[in-house]
Amino acid sequence: MTLRPVGGTTGERHPRRSNGRHVPDPGATLAPRHRRPAHRRDLPEPDHLLTVPGLPDHHAGQHLDVRVTTYDGRRAERCYSIASAPGEPFVELTVERVPDGRVSSYLVDDVREGDVLEVRGPVGEEFVWRPEWRRPLLVVAEGAGIVPVRAMLRHHRASHSSVPVRLLQVASAAPDLLYRREIMQYATSDEVDVNVAFTGAVPAGWNGYSRGVDARMLAEVAWPPAASPLIYVSGPTRFVDRVVPLLESAGHESGRIRREAFGGSAGSVIAGAGTPG
Ligand SMILES: Cc1cc2nc3c(=O)[nH]c(=O)nc-3n(C[C@H](O)[C@H](O)[C@H](O)COP(=O)(O)OP(=O)(O)OC[C@H]3O[C@@H](n4cnc5c(N)ncnc54)[C@H](O)[C@@H]3O)c2cc1C
Repeated sequence: MTLRPVGGTTGERHPRRSNGRHVPDPGATLAPRHRRPAHRRDLPEPDHLLTVPGLPDHHAGQHLDVRVTTYDGRRAERCYSIASAPGEPFVELTVERVPDGRVSSYLVDDVREGDVLEVRGPVGEEFVWRPEWRRPLLVVAEGAGIVPVRAMLRHHRASHSSVPVRLLQVASAAPDLLYRREIMQYATSDEVDVNVAFTGAVPAGWNGYSRGVDARMLAEVAWPPAASPLIYVSGPTRFVDRVVPLLESAGHESGRIRREAFGGSAGSVIAGAGTPG
């Protein structure tokens, strides 16, 4: 399948090696309307859109396989979660630039309006969330791990789900908090119990968590195991590998924990098993 970004005018290509700077810019979005998305510190908002003609509707939590030919002429394929909810008119992807990352740097720095990318999908059943699953929902996400969660939260709202949702979002600092405005809206409207943990610098007057996820934090944020919540953990592999055992040690059944680990050049998916119903 071919994917054509919104806009349609083919921008001049700049086949430079643009990832040499390694500015820790946390995010930009594939095929944005802005010429230099990599320099936006204002993280993804709804103007980062892709049209995907003929893409079958997806389930919240699924991803696309995106195939590109990078500046050096090499072909590469990576997974990117779908950030938009099922039924929305556009499919949105959000790409966090990884230092030395071949595809993420290319997508953030070099893709222009009108470029054509190949995608396959939607794929991945293991990290899907459906509103008909009535169990309380806990999501724990770091970095770009929030991307599939954003689709879940939008789907939760659009489907008028009454399932209670708790979110623990982890970032190094406030500017790195993806979708922060949108997520704060969920918090202020009481739709989602939002908890944020900063592992680095905290904003002035911050009275939330200022450390990495630990057992005490999870005990405070999560429902008790007796409430049988469905738990989704996503983010860098080292994050997922640390959080899941903490949840299991706290008594949460492995079968109710779904995980999606980003990291490593092959972009492996580690899926939790179990029937959520
Ligand atoms: C199911 C799934 C969904 C994903 N969804 C998203 C998404 O929505 N947004 C998004 O930005 N990414 C997402 N990813 C990660 C994405 O697929 C790529 O792995 C990521 O963009 C890095 O690719 P790259 O080619 O830039 O890095 P590579 O060239 O493959 O790697 C360069 C170096 O960075 C390290 N590395 C790779 N990935 C990471 C990482 N995530 N964090 C830290 N170091 C890393 C590698 O080990 C290597 O040392 C997802 C991955 C999976 C498996």
